[in-house]
Amino acid sequence: MKGMVYLVGAGPGDPELLTLKALRVLRTAEVVLTDALVSPEVLGLIPATAITLDVGKRCGRRSISQSEINFLIVQHASSGRIVVRLKSGDPLVFGRAGEEMEALREAGIPFEVVPGITAALGAAAAAQIPLTDRRLASKLVFATAQHAAGKPVPESQGLVSSENTIVLYMPKDNYPEIANELIRDGMPEETPCMIVSRAYRAEEQFYPTTLRELPKVPVLPSPAVVIVGRVTAFHLQSNRHLRSGGNACEEFSVETGAAYEADHVIGG
Ligand code: SAH
Repeated sequence: MKGMVYLVGAGPGDPELLTLKALRVLRTAEVVLTDALVSPEVLGLIPATAITLDVGKRCGRRSISQSEINFLIVQHASSGRIVVRLKSGDPLVFGRAGEEMEALREAGIPFEVVPGITAALGAAAAAQIPLTDRRLASKLVFATAQHAAGKPVPESQGLVSSENTIVLYMPKDNYPEIANELIRDGMPEETPCMIVSRAYRAEEQFYPTTLRELPKVPVLPSPAVVIVGRVTAFHLQSNRHLRSGGNACEEFSVETGAAYEADHVIGG
């Protein structure tokens, strides 16, 4: 007898950003395979009766290979169980879901994808940045700052334009490479950008800067995204007025580039 597999998006961290369907499916799960980036608050929603397997990659620990993960999903589903493959953000964005869906199709196991809020959308919402704006940005690019071969920054020809907003996933500490490559490909040095670290987590941080200054910025904790484009500065200016307190303007200013912490953290 065949079970059922759900590839579920856990969103950026705050459990209130799960879809109702993700929550319902999670509550019926008999086996849950989770990634390292799923927040503890979301993990707390897994029923105590479910078998939970952490298959995430972490530093200093042998990571389970993708084929081993595929095998585990197929094995548990083949014994008739309801399996949830829980991934941070959206399962179809930088989440290797393609390989898992292929394995499930080959094994003839039924599955469903339950979308989640991807990091780009979560980070933009947390920083109150519109990713498109009819005056400033008409195209939106989601890209990884990492190549499979380990080479930072993707081929950006055709994507780099001051009319575009570019959201870079997995920037790690490659700020200089990111800035150099985007400037080399034609993005103006003064283009504003915003680093959003741990969006919708208790330790959420924002760091407004420019491409010129980005190489000098201290590396923010992972997971983080770098949002590049004119929309980031435009809305920092209006954010100034949303903040109260003496040094709020300084904190939000593109010139000073100081990090500031959110006031809408989980439980805060
Ligand atoms: N499937 C995920 C992406 C997984 S790749 C999604 O749709 O969001 C992992 C990368 O996602 C991280 O390196 C980081 O760039 C980004 N990310 C995940 N959670 C994040 C968060 N809470 N805040 C900022 N970036 C996050």
